[in-house]
Amino acid sequence: MVLGTAYWTAFRPRSQVFGPFPYRAPTADKVVALTFDDGPNEPYTSRLLDVLDQRGVKATFFQVGRCAQRFPSTARRVVESGHVLGNHSYSHSFTSSLRQPRQHEEIRRTQDIVHTITGVTPALYRPPWLCHWPWVLHAVDDHGLQVVSGTFAHPLEVLQPPARVLTAAAVRRAKPGSIVILHDGREARGGPRAQSVAAVGPLIDRLAGQGYTFTTVDRLLGVAPYLR
Ligand SMILES: [Zn+2]
Repeated sequence: MVLGTAYWTAFRPRSQVFGPFPYRAPTADKVVALTFDDGPNEPYTSRLLDVLDQRGVKATFFQVGRCAQRFPSTARRVVESGHVLGNHSYSHSFTSSLRQPRQHEEIRRTQDIVHTITGVTPALYRPPWLCHWPWVLHAVDDHGLQVVSGTFAHPLEVLQPPARVLTAAAVRRAKPGSIVILHDGREARGGPRAQSVAAVGPLIDRLAGQGYTFTTVDRLLGVAPYLR
């Protein structure tokens, strides 16, 4: 039970026990930040970019270094289209999250890869599994990054329930200042994301119909998107 409690304290998205780990912005304005984790992962990331670009919506992509190496032109398109690219570790390894020395390597490698591919160096970091043990947060801090949590659009998105189910859950959970988490990949290994991608257009349209606008995480939190 103690272990279970410790796990829940460290990994649940809204836990602030170990320090600032923002999952939303304190605002009453109807604005949300859509975020996409675990990409780039083709063809899904490019389809998603088409959906966003058609609607003029800017989003934040927390990309895995290993995936950016696999699809560098997609990582480049994210930045060139005016979306924001954040760091989501190099390997998305669960065991790396538990080992202090590995944190720096996981962060640094992806910073270097993203810089080489796109010319920008991320200032935002979302730890895999939303793990925010103290040493993870310290490592993020040492690299001068802002750690970012969020609210899952749907708790079982990984299993790819139908797009309409994902859309409905995400609309229900969205609040002013929400940072909404969706996935265009799966950890560092890709995988099908057709339902997630199909959910995004209707999600934008329905929230817009309720008066919401969309922004990137850096703007929502009032921080810089890139280090240099
Ligand atoms: Zn992830």
